[in-house]
Amino acid sequence: MSKERKPYIGVIGGSGLYDPEILGSVKEVTVHTPYGAPSDNIFIGEIKGVTVAFLPRHGRGHKYPPHRINYRANIWALHSLGVKRIIAVSAVGSLREDYEPGDFVLPDQFVDMTKNRSYTFYDGPKVAHIQIGLEPFCPELRKIVLDTAREHNIKIHDGGCYICIEGPRFSTKAESRIWKDVFKCDIIGMTLIPEINLARELGICYSLIAMVTDYDIWAERVVTAEEVVKVMKENVEKAKKLLYSVIPKVPETKGCKCEEILKTAFL
Ligand SMILES: [Zn+2]
Repeated sequence: MSKERKPYIGVIGGSGLYDPEILGSVKEVTVHTPYGAPSDNIFIGEIKGVTVAFLPRHGRGHKYPPHRINYRANIWALHSLGVKRIIAVSAVGSLREDYEPGDFVLPDQFVDMTKNRSYTFYDGPKVAHIQIGLEPFCPELRKIVLDTAREHNIKIHDGGCYICIEGPRFSTKAESRIWKDVFKCDIIGMTLIPEINLARELGICYSLIAMVTDYDIWAERVVTAEEVVKVMKENVEKAKKLLYSVIPKVPETKGCKCEEILKTAFL
């Protein structure tokens, strides 16, 4: 590993992506934050000369369900190490026929249906209302991921609205049809919120590679756990390949407004 270079890029691994095996010369760092402990130690290593910090969102062994993840500690820990751009990876369900199991999606909007999480670093006396509406996901990172996935012939959909539910239970059929037909959302998961808005509060770019594992319950298709696990494993292998090619292409000078927009956030 090059001499104590700070990681500029952070990768948050979702279900199935717990180990930092894509990184070379890994060292493990225990980070303490004002918000408690992150999901796990942070792994710092390199991909083609680029220093990267990796954090398994659920902890190794998947010990934290979505509603028990300490999102503030996770984002703060990456920030404290020097991370300015995050590429997150998550398994999602599909709310549309043409977003098939095994496909990747680069969402560009979200709807928050979570209920009980710590959503901000600004609980007072300092108050912030961040702008996240137009481009919640970093457009520059999205484009790099999209172009690279296409170069590798990975089936990826450019755009989609991610609805984040509280979990840990899945939606009912009635709920799923509301997300799909009334809210017009495209994919569903349990972890985007508040990860994305906490990153924005610290000026960190955030992008998500969403990996479709199955159709949500609206489709009334019964799949076995084995089928889901099989798709998830294949997705994780593709995601690793994609990250390996994406990371060296991410410039250290930002061509986006994810950080600049913060200037308007404080009262
Ligand atoms: Zn950005």
